[in-house]
Order: sequence, then structure tokens, then C-alpha cells
Amino acid sequence: MSDLIPTREEQEGDGEVRYRMLYESEDKVYIRHIKGVFTRVRKYTGLPLLLAFFFLPWINIDGRQSVFFDLPTRQFHIFWTTFGPQDGFLLGWLLIIAAFALFAVTTLLGRVWCGFTCPQTVWTMMFIWAERVCEGDRNKRMKLDKAPWNLEKVLRKGGTHTIWLLISLATALAFVGYFYGVRELVVDLATFNAHPQGVFWVAFFTFATYMNAGFLREQVCKYMCPYARFQSVMYDEDTLAVYYDAKRGETRGPRKKNVDYKAEGMGDCIDCYWCVQVCPVDIDIRDGMQYECINCGLCVDACNSVMDKMGYEQGLIRFTSEDELQGGKTRFLRPRLFGYALILVAMTGLFAQQVMTRSPIEAEITRDRGARMFRESQGQVQNVYTVKINNMDQAPHEFTIKVEGKPEYDYSIRKPKTIYLVPGEMFSVPIRVSVPRDQLKDTKHDIEIVVQAVDNPELVDKHRTVFIGPKQ
Ligand code: SF4
Ligand code: SF4
Repeated sequence: MSDLIPTREEQEGDGEVRYRMLYESEDKVYIRHIKGVFTRVRKYTGLPLLLAFFFLPWINIDGRQSVFFDLPTRQFHIFWTTFGPQDGFLLGWLLIIAAFALFAVTTLLGRVWCGFTCPQTVWTMMFIWAERVCEGDRNKRMKLDKAPWNLEKVLRKGGTHTIWLLISLATALAFVGYFYGVRELVVDLATFNAHPQGVFWVAFFTFATYMNAGFLREQVCKYMCPYARFQSVMYDEDTLAVYYDAKRGETRGPRKKNVDYKAEGMGDCIDCYWCVQVCPVDIDIRDGMQYECINCGLCVDACNSVMDKMGYEQGLIRFTSEDELQGGKTRFLRPRLFGYALILVAMTGLFAQQVMTRSPIEAEITRDRGARMFRESQGQVQNVYTVKINNMDQAPHEFTIKVEGKPEYDYSIRKPKTIYLVPGEMFSVPIRVSVPRDQLKDTKHDIEIVVQAVDNPELVDKHRTVFIGPKQ
């Protein structure tokens, strides 16, 4: 038997062997433009996220970019707060909260995140808009693609790709700007002084956006997005999703307006294919619910406009639940949703408490094990430590370092006279902690090193470590 993976799949039926190419390339999807409630809603749900993405890096707070991920110093500035690597658990927490919020919304309203706010959808919408502006709606685009190359085709296609590239470049600049500093990035690029890594990432994200929203589009939703694969687990019979009302629509077929189609045994679907032509993932919702459906509601708008033209009632395709479709009622309050809501409230509360009570200064203590464990000098036993202080506050501070240990020992510290750190600065300082030899009654005991801001005693961080002395 061959070890090669077949590129053709055999299918047997009626004594006939048929083949299907497994790596068949997808046909280009020409989406028809449609007006309607959901088309409008999609504009308004995508817009705030777009505006936030593009303009947040341009807003400064306290003289610093409002959202700035400073990788070399491992500091993440988000509005008025600075997070460090030690806050990684908060990020994990945030992702878990976001996942539960997504589960809750999906259980209630199906895949609306995908259809209305997912960046893949929003960027694809922008690219489709550019296509429509330069090349016209569906039929004109199809005709243009089939037409031989001439000046008009070059100008129209050139216009589309120029707008796509401009959107892609703006996206890359904004994205890389979150890590590089958007103002510096633009100035450095314009003056040819940008760091090679900055140039590489801008080029990379420009290309990735151009390919993704320009060519991959629905294939990302269908084949690459892991969420598409498991979202159906969150659906129940009361989840609101886009359904075709087959009872009302079938038997489908074309007919003349104003004929008594019901007398001829026909349903409301006139088989015009508008619902298929507007679908961004190229499916026919009349075949039933499919995992590819991103719940965007465009087929609802398309079908409603057809129903209006025919003088039929709207809602042949609509947001409804399986229960309602079977003649029942949608239950909005259900145990699973209560469970998600409870988890969300508890986790969000804990997260907020952690963020609000975290100290903006952080100290790390390392006992110097490099040389000897301790040193004796002039009747004193000395241990050396390195104290790393990270000022994540928005104000500069002078810091003191104290030792708290056994009350019967006279601890003394030798350290630099002043430790002054500007906002965002990190500083490592060696300190020598001494105890008179004749006071020491143990070879090893715990001490606590306390780092405190002089101007604000509430900014304090304490760490436990050990003090080692000679054998008694
Ligand atoms: S748009 Fe409505 S009427 Fe037209 S094919 Fe789709 S379901 Fe039928
Ligand atoms: S079937 Fe309708 S709701 Fe689903 S993706 Fe296509 S257009 Fe959007």
C-alpha cells in the first residue's frame, strides 16, 4: 500500500467511482451589496472597534502613548496603569473572562461576534467596500473579471488594490505602533531611520492584511478559525440564530407576482438566490444551519427586501430559535446562561479587585550566592543581596530599603545614598546587610527586605529572604 496521502477522494455510488479533489481551490465569492437593518447594524458594531484600534495609539496620557507595549523593558502601559511580567496572570485572567463572555453571548445570540465585530469580518467589509467603489456591485465585478485587460480594467483594479494597500499599511502602522510608539514609527519611517525590525513588521503586517482581507476572506472563517469548529457546542434549542423557515418557504420556485402561488402548492421562497449571493461565506442557508454561517444577518436583509418586492410578509429568513421554528417560544432565561453570568460576575469582580489593589512598585530580592555565603568584618557578619526595583507608577519616587528581621539583632544596611527612579524605570542595587557577630544565635534565619517610596509610604513592597551566618 502506498504511504502517500491521496489528493483525490474516492466516492462510490450507483456502481460508479467518482473522484473529488481534496485540495480544490475555492471559487471567488462575489458578494451582492444589500441594504437593510443588519447591514446597518454591522457598520455600527465594527466602527467603534476600528476607531479604537486606529486612534488609541495616537492619544497620549500623562505624556505617554495611552496603550504601549514596551517589549524591551517588559512593561505594558494601558491608559493610567503600567503592567509588568509579574502581572501575566492578569492577562490570563482577562482571556478567561473574554472566553466566558463569548460563550455567554454565543449561547444567547449565536455567532454574532463573528458576523458583527470579528476583525476578520470588519476588515473584509472594508475591502469589499473598496471593491464596490472601484469596480461596481456583484454583476459588474463578475463581468469585469471576465473581460480582457484594457485601460478601464487596469484603472478599476488598480484603484481597488491601491485602497486595499492603503488600508493594509494603515493597519500595520497602527498595530506595530502599539509596540514601537506610533509617532516615532511614522517619523522614523518617513526619515528612513526606522529600526530594521520595525520596517520588517510593518511590511509583514501590510502583506498579511492585504492577503487576508483581500483574498483569503471566508476561507479563514471556514478552515482556519478554531472558534468555527466548536461554537455549535454552545448552541441550544433557544439560541437565536439565522434560520430559513422551510415550512413557510417550501416548495420553492419562481412565479409571477400576484399569482395565487399557494393554490399551486408553492411556498414563499421564489428561489431568487439573493440570500446566497449576499452571503460572505458562500453558503445557502436554505440547506439548514451550517457551521460556516457567521450569523451576520445579510441573508435576512436580502430575503426581506425580496419579500417586500413580492408583497409577502418579511421574516422567511430570520433570527429565531429552533424552539420558535418548531412552533414554541424562545426562552431567554435559562440555567446555562445563569451559570455563565455568575462566573462572569465573580471573575470580573476578582479581576477588578486585583487591578485596583496591585502596587505600582515591585521589588525582587536575590541573595548573592556567587562568592561566599557571608563575610565577617570588624565583628560584623555580612550578607549581600541584589534588590531590583521597578517603578511602574506614573510619578518619580525616591526609595528607601529597610530590613525587618529578629528584633534582638541590630541590622545595618550599606546601600547607595539615594535610589531615585523616574516612571517606568527599573534599577538593580546591591545591598550589604550586617549583624554583629556576637548577637547571632543561629546560622540561618529569615529576614524581610522592605522597599518603600519616601514621598508615599503606601507604595511599599516586602520580600522574605534568608540571612546566613557562621556555625556557632
Ligand atoms: S432570498 Fe428569500 S426568496 Fe430569495 S431564494 Fe433566498 S430565501 Fe428564497
Ligand atoms: S447564511 Fe446568512 S447569516 Fe449565515 S453567513 Fe451567510 S449571510 Fe450571514
